[in-house]
Amino acid sequence: MSERAPLGLFGGTFDPVHIGHLRLAEEARESLRLGRVRWIPAGQPWHRAAPQTSPAHRLEMVRRAVAPNPCFEVDAREVASGRPSYTVNTLLALRAELGGDLPLVLILGADAFGKLHTWHRWQELFGLAHIGLATRAGQSVDAGTLDAALACELAARQRDEAQALREAPAGVIVRFDMTPLAVSATDIRARLARGASCRYLAPAAVLDYISHHRLY
Ligand code: ATP
Repeated sequence: MSERAPLGLFGGTFDPVHIGHLRLAEEARESLRLGRVRWIPAGQPWHRAAPQTSPAHRLEMVRRAVAPNPCFEVDAREVASGRPSYTVNTLLALRAELGGDLPLVLILGADAFGKLHTWHRWQELFGLAHIGLATRAGQSVDAGTLDAALACELAARQRDEAQALREAPAGVIVRFDMTPLAVSATDIRARLARGASCRYLAPAAVLDYISHHRLY
């Protein structure tokens, strides 16, 4: 059994990072008893249109947002690579660096989990990391609406207790409830584009950065 606290991994476009992301990472850390959460901003996401904002700006906004939390850290490898980001490759690289024993927990919102079967070599992810699955803004994962292969993986791998994340380095799925926060980066970009206030939707340091660099 591993005695090391699991490391949470939180990827996203973060265009821009907002309080929904911060609460997701914080509630995952607390509910799943993670030692730390490593934020990994995507460079060029392969599964969606190129973000409006450059990878360097998105990375810097994440750095500013997470700086006050000693349990959060930032990993710039996907931004630095300059290539499309595939989670499976990032996990393989992390495994090579961190070794095979440390439990890794990929933190996913329910909407991201529902599309997992479309990710590059998605079934290999379970050999590399656990999944911490949040319920986002009242959405839950309804096995009936999932892709059949993904529903099978969920049924086989789901465990109720966070302790399961410490008993193996990878392979289980643990759900946790998250405070519903119907905040999205899309909505924030739309507000910024029409000159509306985004105060309290994202940290002040992020909004100051956006304003200083005239993003969005
Ligand atoms: P966009 O609106 O541009 O699609 P987003 O706000 O959903 O962006 P992403 O960077 O795509 O942000 O999300 C990264 C991760 O954060 C995903 O796993 C997503 O499910 C989760 N997430 C985003 N917003 C919230 C929220 N309000 N509550 C819980 N999880 C969230």
